[in-house]
Amino acid sequence: MKVVLQNLTKQFPGRDKKSSDVVTAVNNFNFEIPDGKLIGLLGPSGCGKSTALNLISGLIAPTSGRIYFGDDDVTDLPPENRGVGLVFQSYALYPHLTVRQNIMFPLENLKGAERPSKAEMERRVLEAAKLVQIEGLLDRKPGEMSGGQQQRVAIARAVVKMPKVLLLDEPLSNLDARLRLQTREEIRRIQRDTGITTVFVTHDQEEAMSISDMIVVMKEGVVQQIGKPQAVYDDPVNLFVSKFLGTPPINVFEGRVKGGRLFIGDEPVLDVSGAPEVEVWAGIRPEGFIPDANGPLTCQLRGVEVMGRDISVVCAHEKCEAAQIRAIISAENAIDEGSATVRFSLKPRKVHLFDRATEARIRFGADAKGVN
Ligand code: ATP
Repeated sequence: MKVVLQNLTKQFPGRDKKSSDVVTAVNNFNFEIPDGKLIGLLGPSGCGKSTALNLISGLIAPTSGRIYFGDDDVTDLPPENRGVGLVFQSYALYPHLTVRQNIMFPLENLKGAERPSKAEMERRVLEAAKLVQIEGLLDRKPGEMSGGQQQRVAIARAVVKMPKVLLLDEPLSNLDARLRLQTREEIRRIQRDTGITTVFVTHDQEEAMSISDMIVVMKEGVVQQIGKPQAVYDDPVNLFVSKFLGTPPINVFEGRVKGGRLFIGDEPVLDVSGAPEVEVWAGIRPEGFIPDANGPLTCQLRGVEVMGRDISVVCAHEKCEAAQIRAIISAENAIDEGSATVRFSLKPRKVHLFDRATEARIRFGADAKGVN
């Protein structure tokens, strides 16, 4: 089921009830979510992700704009008539009911012709339980299960009605690191198996990048960028997006463009022909550094961390906005740990320039000639 968000805006009254201030939690959101895809809605706390999800579910009504499921305008329909499955951070299972009864609950609530026979309900509960691999636990109560198992029950309950759209709000937040990894893969598998259009809210960029077909990066209610995870990582539209994606994060330097070259401090570190002569933020991805005894960028060496296949060179530079720079390089490179400095040349595609004033992307080289 394709989902279309059209000029979607949600405003809440501000804290001060007497003033006319409003909080614009979601600001003119436009997006056509393709049928059968998994979309990661991503951004820092308070950026409006949950509000956007709640608008799609119908739990809250928009201030303006429309929502379509396929060709149907569902903006004025209550959640129960939209055909959505919801999973929240807290599993919200009924503690006194067994897993079987919890999963069956949405089917038992169906009325009239929609309500399946008891045998059909049993069949569908078993099918949903198999999908999330808890079919052996159907007679347990939620209190007798791990957090990861409980979250799977919540997912089974959300998919048992075969919703048109599955909406997940930070579903992994209550799980420990190992279970988070495992469960996110499960969600991906379940989504692929069922083909249900799914929107997944998270503040964890790695989580969103790893399982989404497309990500939507939000900031202060405004969509910053929409695209395939790798495309957004490789080609961020502004400084915010570049800093939000990537572990370790992008290294940001004060720089300026002069005569087609990027200067960091006094050093011309990269040919950036086509870029305007302005002050910039120069973002360098950790994998963008090449150790090079004659390289143009000189950093103070702080240490070397071995990570197996790669090594992380920890260094510093007075023009870097963070105290530490992290360069990830192949372990085949030899770094003299006794040296006070380390020199790098840079991979042009791993260097992104942003206007210092507007923080918008500045393109250079082949990119400057039209490709957006
Ligand atoms: P988090 O990751 O912390 O849950 P979020 O990105 O999901 O954050 P939202 O919960 O959508 O953000 O909130 C977006 C903005 O709208 C915030 O500034 C929040 O304070 C405000 N907001 C959300 N719900 C309400 C409400 N019912 N009344 C007033 N303001 C609200």
